[in-house]
Amino acid sequence: MPEAQRSFQDSLNGEKFDEDLQKYLAMALDLGADDAKIIGKEDVIIDERIVARCFSPRCSYYDTNLHCPPHSWSVEETRRIVDRYQKGIFILLKVPPEEMADPDYDNPDKHKIPGAMKMYKMVATIQSAAFYDGYPFALGFAGGPACKRVFCPKVECSGLTQKGCRMGQKVNFTMHGVGMDPITMASKVGWKVYPIGKKTTPDQIPYGVEMGLVLIQ
Ligand code: SF4
Repeated sequence: MPEAQRSFQDSLNGEKFDEDLQKYLAMALDLGADDAKIIGKEDVIIDERIVARCFSPRCSYYDTNLHCPPHSWSVEETRRIVDRYQKGIFILLKVPPEEMADPDYDNPDKHKIPGAMKMYKMVATIQSAAFYDGYPFALGFAGGPACKRVFCPKVECSGLTQKGCRMGQKVNFTMHGVGMDPITMASKVGWKVYPIGKKTTPDQIPYGVEMGLVLIQ
């Protein structure tokens, strides 16, 4: 028989909050994360320069889907939203260098990105678990790249139409798409991230990374 659910009121009084955070941390590791940390809202770095990079040089996913600029939240909105939370789970997934360092990265026929899909799933799973534990505002942010590349590379984004996003609860904004700076956040928790671009070859880096965040309450 499934475990009885708590009411929202039972969770929002905070008694189980620390225990629940530990549970989500363990869940991230069980789901395959290489590391995860409990962080405070003050550890979520938000910077206008992150979104500026969506505009220039213009990202190929700009204005192609519901979760990227100019359709995502403004940096100012992100600041106000994050400020309403206390704690979140910051997640690290290392992926093989070949997954990130490939000139065909944006070509779904030639290149697969299972690590990116895995991070979207981890974030959605922890977000959902927190909701059912009684945290109504649990809110996830995936790593890169845009949901268009991961879920809908060959079809138009239905999220920009009256139909709404075809992936429903499986997809969230990315951290960088709303102005969060995962690279500086990684430095604060002791994770190393390597710059990877079209000129990078797999033998130049030990691994690539996907990073995600779930704000709990
Ligand atoms: S329909 Fe596809 S591209 Fe559009 S928001 Fe949803 S997952 Fe992203």
